[in-house]
Amino acid sequence: MSLLFFLCGLVFGSFGNVLIYRLPLRRSIQGRSCCPHCGAVLRPQHLVPVVSFLLLRGKCSACKETLSLQYPLVELASGLLALASLSIAPTLLSAAILALALWLLLIIAVIDAYIQGIPDVLSAFFITLSCIYTVLTGELQPLAFLIGIGFFALQWLLSKGEWIGTGDILLAVGLSALLGTWESVLFMLFFAYITGAAVAAVLLLTKKLTSKSHIAFGPFLALGTLAALLVGERMMSCILSSLQACEGLLQF
Ligand SMILES: [Zn+2]
Repeated sequence: MSLLFFLCGLVFGSFGNVLIYRLPLRRSIQGRSCCPHCGAVLRPQHLVPVVSFLLLRGKCSACKETLSLQYPLVELASGLLALASLSIAPTLLSAAILALALWLLLIIAVIDAYIQGIPDVLSAFFITLSCIYTVLTGELQPLAFLIGIGFFALQWLLSKGEWIGTGDILLAVGLSALLGTWESVLFMLFFAYITGAAVAAVLLLTKKLTSKSHIAFGPFLALGTLAALLVGERMMSCILSSLQACEGLLQF
């Protein structure tokens, strides 16, 4: 079953690359894949995820231009996310739904990194899948929604849409539904802000970013979500129990 999930993940990752390339350009997702440099239509043997890229040594077979590393990386990440879903979700059906949701989240994160915006159609599908997952696992606290959405809505209101976009709020709806518990949502936000701040600091120090430029927050929210799904519960119970221990010591 693991191999099947991984292989399906790879194939979905390949389709994900098509979405990442075409959706921001508002191109139809139908029609055959072609080289972004010369437009040569890819042959079936060039469409095998990861393997084709390695066999072609990362170059187009027609024009020999270098192809972006993004293609095999997205395919591999998608395969690994499908594998992770199998270990996170309680049943096979919920694992399949989670794998699809995480695949969409990966595409959302990459598109957000490129264009600093999230196509609404992807957010809508992501919210739908997250809600199905949370219904299947039976884990949904209203408090999770309140923290996840409230946090972003507040920032949006305070900055009049300057700091974050409405796309981030839609994403927060989906993420809150997917994570289900307030502990996980809090952990996700914490993780996203720490990693986001660290990356922004490095970019500022190396002068790749100025204080005026924007950096997409979607990829960090996606990373935070993955961390929350994989280790969030363990980390949060660790933090909460050490807080309780501190409280105990103070009372003593
Ligand atoms: Zn080419």
